[in-house]
Amino acid sequence: MLNLVLFGAPGSGKGTQSEKLIEGYDLFHISTGEVLRDHIKRGTELGKIADSFISKGELIPDDLMISILDDVLEKNAADVEGVVFDGFPRTIPQADALEKLLARRGTELHAVIGLEVPEEELMNRMLERGRLTGRADDTPETIKNRLDVYHRQTMPLRDYYNSNGKYLAINGHGRVDDIFEDISTRIKEKTGAERKSR
Ligand code: AMP
Repeated sequence: MLNLVLFGAPGSGKGTQSEKLIEGYDLFHISTGEVLRDHIKRGTELGKIADSFISKGELIPDDLMISILDDVLEKNAADVEGVVFDGFPRTIPQADALEKLLARRGTELHAVIGLEVPEEELMNRMLERGRLTGRADDTPETIKNRLDVYHRQTMPLRDYYNSNGKYLAINGHGRVDDIFEDISTRIKEKTGAERKSR
């Protein structure tokens, strides 16, 4: 098993690098943002609740988010070689819950890949994504709140994972392929896992 968290501010490239990781290491991808956006698109009850938080750039409450993740793991992650968690955890209680959810399944979190990108670049990337995809929360006001929420609620996880030795700081500013090379090297050093394809 190889279980990885992709950690970083909104706009840091988690989605892009997730795609490369799942392909390169045959992993199952869980993006909590995508799970929620899918509920919103399908108009489910959960989607309605999620939308009320996402549209303001706020986080979905921990209890709800953790039970959604548990459910996704239960339905999908039985026979996989490992999981890339993209956008989860975003708070310390979520990180504690992830540890327990993985332990219950006889496994653990192996590394946290922290994509570090200058603030100005994050803003530009998200505005560009908003223009290209029409993603509803990529508007100037919501982006600003998402960055504030990131600093307040999610940044403390950097220290949390630094102190348990799982945090791998990656310079997320540059070419996508170069960043992925760097990630692959650091995963190899940390866990011994090798990429399956080039
Ligand atoms: P993302 O696609 O990861 O940028 O997530 C988009 C939005 O979904 C976030 O701004 C939050 O409102 C919500 N969200 C995604 N993942 C989480 C999480 N782990 N905890 C709370 N809210 C989340």
